[in-house]
Amino acid sequence: MNRTVIPPSANGPPAHVLLVDDEPVVARELRDLVQSYGHRVTACNSWTEALRAFGKGDVDLILMDAVMPTVDGFKLTRIIRSRAKTYVPIVFLTGLADDNARANGIEAGGDDFLTKPIDPLELQVRIKAMLRIRSLTKALEEKSRTLSRLVAMDALTGIGNRRSFDERMQTELGETTRTHESVSVLLLDLDHFKSVNDSFGHTVGDDLLRVFGRLLADNTRACDLPYRYGGEEFAVVCPSSTTDDACTLAERIRAAFMRVSPSATAAGARTCSIGVAGTDILPGASKEVLLQAADAALYRAKDSGRNCVCKFDPLFDQKVA
Ligand code: GH3
Ligand code: MG
Ligand code: MG
Repeated sequence: MNRTVIPPSANGPPAHVLLVDDEPVVARELRDLVQSYGHRVTACNSWTEALRAFGKGDVDLILMDAVMPTVDGFKLTRIIRSRAKTYVPIVFLTGLADDNARANGIEAGGDDFLTKPIDPLELQVRIKAMLRIRSLTKALEEKSRTLSRLVAMDALTGIGNRRSFDERMQTELGETTRTHESVSVLLLDLDHFKSVNDSFGHTVGDDLLRVFGRLLADNTRACDLPYRYGGEEFAVVCPSSTTDDACTLAERIRAAFMRVSPSATAAGARTCSIGVAGTDILPGASKEVLLQAADAALYRAKDSGRNCVCKFDPLFDQKVA
């Protein structure tokens, strides 16, 4: 048998190959062969060992023995496919030349077959083809992650956008029905922002929006993600927080903006107004009702002279459905 028909340089960049075979002699032989193609190999003799190695997250290809005791290659493939967040090609190594094994393997999530005894050239060619698929899939997965990030992000400020705010609110309100904890929301609006654009130009207006987005990110806990709600309006969702907790945060943000804004942009000292509402005041409130309440409180903050925090109060604020 010719072991080096394809020159090693043609094997592509070194990859991490997980080899699963319950027979140590076979596993060792295959490991040496795959290593001779320039790849790193982790050889496992049991399904538990294989899952542990796969769980480390850096495997590019699996060569899987079909017949193994307890959990066979097909079952193990199903487990891996159901757990893995990334697509790793699986090639079955099988002595079972019958069509049933092939059908079962594909059904379980396998991608290809090699019949034992393994022909080295055949193995080398399949590994190369499968690693090509792996590298394309990996690039696609990376692009998809980037796209998901961009879809959820406000392009100007880099914080979450309205779309991700809506999703987050829905999730958090769903959680409260389970945990019975209060969730609160802050609606924040820059005061007299139009005059920034009018007096200093749109670019300075944009700078101020960026500064405010960063200030929100810097002044909130990891779980209180800030969002740009639209225009010069922002929102912060505060899980596991009462309206009073959220008011404390709002006051901190208001004060921080007064402190930071004078030297942050050409527009000089600026202020913001904030409305706050939480489900401890409005039990069972929908997303829309909670937002209406925070908006009513914000409206009152504007009406009271701006640069202040108002907590939703059913006595003062418009009736919220
Ligand atoms: P108030 O104190 O009552 O909130 O007054 P305001 O001037 O802040 O509010 P108004 O709603 O009258 O004006 C908001 C302005 O924000 C109008 C709009 O042109 C501007 N704006 C919205 N989005 C952007 C943006 O992305 N960049 C810039 N530079 N301006 C924006
Ligand atoms: Mg405004
Ligand atoms: Mg506004």
